[in-house]
Amino acid sequence: MQGWNRFTRMTSAMTVAAVALAAAALWADADPQAAVNAAFAKFKTLNEGKNADYIPALAKVDPNLFGVAVVTVDGKVYTAGDVATEVSIQSISKVFTMAQVIEEQGVESIEKRIGVDATGGRFNSIIAVEAVRTVVGSGAPEMNALVNPGAISATSMVKGASADEVWKRIIGIHDEFAGRPLAVLQDVYKSESDSNERNQAIGALMFAYGYIKTDWRQAVDLYTRQCSIGVNAKDLATMAATLAGMGRNPTTGKQVMDAAKVPPVLAVMATAGLYDDSGKWLYHTGLPAKSGVGGGIIAVSPGKFGIAVVSPPLDAAGNSVRAQKAIADISNALRGNPFAATVDR
Ligand code: GLN
Repeated sequence: MQGWNRFTRMTSAMTVAAVALAAAALWADADPQAAVNAAFAKFKTLNEGKNADYIPALAKVDPNLFGVAVVTVDGKVYTAGDVATEVSIQSISKVFTMAQVIEEQGVESIEKRIGVDATGGRFNSIIAVEAVRTVVGSGAPEMNALVNPGAISATSMVKGASADEVWKRIIGIHDEFAGRPLAVLQDVYKSESDSNERNQAIGALMFAYGYIKTDWRQAVDLYTRQCSIGVNAKDLATMAATLAGMGRNPTTGKQVMDAAKVPPVLAVMATAGLYDDSGKWLYHTGLPAKSGVGGGIIAVSPGKFGIAVVSPPLDAAGNSVRAQKAIADISNALRGNPFAATVDR
């Protein structure tokens, strides 16, 4: 056993060195700033999509806001456009709350209670809840923590004796990934709280079906709050880069999550990060990613970099139009697709 452990330690050290060398070779001839500038210029005038308006505050956000940021795992930052204006993080928060539960309670906690499978439905599908209900209790829930029912359930799983304690942990992990203290955009929180009957219905159903075991009203409220956290494109790219660096924030240098627990988080992002368009996204980019109806998308090239784009107009699936196009172009230019390996022959 001891020999085996030493062997795996040695081989993983060798693998890390080999990966670092390969990444260095790829980066040597890549020009991230040129790629960021080119994507910004190309999509700046693209006027497709529409701001989300089912949350009234989101309809008021400037649709021309456009910020692009790449942060590498060694902390280099490349930006274009407005990377300072904050939007609400919305569904991108689902990644970090899921990460908090995995960090606290292990990789199996999310898999057993919520599941790690695509629903194939929209992000707030109630039909999906009914469909997976048939397998609850079979030990194989076919839901995931990146659509609303699973995300509200994940929020309910975060430990804490009071709502305040749970909230501290939720905002805490967001702060750690971003590398700065973030705050809730109160206008968005109020606007969504006043209009989130559908999420309340989802919370009540998830409680009735045994996914949520604590106060579902509290879970829906904290979920609404986490969706209202204000972030800019640079924050989001730093969060993505922290995932790319296996939990090490490249700006603060802090290991904010156990490195071994990051790959499962990325796997759920790859499976369900862009809702019912996740397969299409993965087909074209190969990148684990997550979108939010505030207009942000983060994408992760493991071991290399994180990209984030903020642009509020969305397509029919609820994903930012410009963000999808800009990220795909940049990743392509930087050879970010993890499936496109370089093979020595
Ligand atoms: N807060 C939003 C909601 O629950 C998040 C949805 C999203 O970003 N897709 O409806």
